[in-house]
Amino acid sequence: MNLSLNLLPPRLRPLARAGVPLAPLTTFRIGGAAALLVEPASLRDVSDLLAACRASGVPLFVLGGGSNLLVSDEGVPGVVVSLARLKKIQVIGSHVIAQAGANLATLVTRCSQAGVAGPQALAGIPGTVGGALAMNAGGRHGEIADWVERVIWVNPRGELESLYREEIAFGYRSSTLREGVVVEAWLHGGVGEPAELAARARTILQEKLAAQPYSEFSAGCAFQNPKGMSAGRLIDLAGCKGLGVGGAQVSTMHGNFIVNTGSATASQVLELMRMVQERVQAAHGVRLEPEVRIWPACAPAA
Ligand SMILES: Cc1cc2nc3c(=O)[nH]c(=O)nc-3n(C[C@H](O)[C@H](O)[C@H](O)COP(=O)(O)OP(=O)(O)OC[C@H]3O[C@@H](n4cnc5c(N)ncnc54)[C@H](O)[C@@H]3O)c2cc1C
Repeated sequence: MNLSLNLLPPRLRPLARAGVPLAPLTTFRIGGAAALLVEPASLRDVSDLLAACRASGVPLFVLGGGSNLLVSDEGVPGVVVSLARLKKIQVIGSHVIAQAGANLATLVTRCSQAGVAGPQALAGIPGTVGGALAMNAGGRHGEIADWVERVIWVNPRGELESLYREEIAFGYRSSTLREGVVVEAWLHGGVGEPAELAARARTILQEKLAAQPYSEFSAGCAFQNPKGMSAGRLIDLAGCKGLGVGGAQVSTMHGNFIVNTGSATASQVLELMRMVQERVQAAHGVRLEPEVRIWPACAPAA
């Protein structure tokens, strides 16, 4: 799909590029190009961009660190907004104000250095602060919602708005923030000793490195854990470890990771996800739902 820069207000055009390959901007390293990629430099740019997309009926896709994304081989027929330029982090006492494009690992390090306890639980999760909020990223040590005070976002109506924690519905690897564009987060942690907090973050990171295929191209867990069960365990028991379609393979290290061994296409990953869903359904009578976000939206079993 070709999109003209003219759909954007003149002020935003220098921040936009057409036909930008998205694969290098994702941890899966898969997918086609964005019709337009825009990198706003201010909160106002984000709301102006949303307004322009709404006015012209062009779909908007929000890109963080691309660590939970599978982009279709045909690319994305709309505007992709990347918040990579909005990455300031400020720590005031036990409060942290972080822009959405800030790296989550940097946030964890800054919290440890400043003696802010809690977000160390997020050590080892790739991506940005905005993506973590949209996905309610976390694991067995906690999830980002645990430390949210408030969030500034551009809501689906295109307005810049501040939401308190109680106004946001966070679920398991999901939040209502995915309906708009998060631009800034205010987090609040406890008080800790910097050296101890850094050690805790290191321990959690080491745990993840030992259990997950970090050095390979993936988008993290492919499927959500069904209530009270481990998707990885169900996949292992269904005999899917090592199963492959083209360059896509179920990791031999962790059954819930699908890895790109180098040449995988999005359609191969989707085909493999469909096979895994079928085998798990047949073996356990459980339907696995994707955790990875698929652009543009489509079901693996479609
Ligand atoms: C090796 C590996 C390990 C992982 N381990 C974990 C883990 O332990 N726990 C866990 O929860 N996840 C894990 N993940 C998945 C992923 O890192 C998280 O979901 C992460 O929070 C996604 O952030 P991102 O910035 O990369 O978002 P992206 O992948 O860019 O986007 C994900 C979704 O969030 C939306 N989004 C992104 N930014 C914004 C924004 N500013 N406003 C609104 N919506 C936005 C996107 O539109 C998309 O729907 C892992 C991934 C990998 C590759």
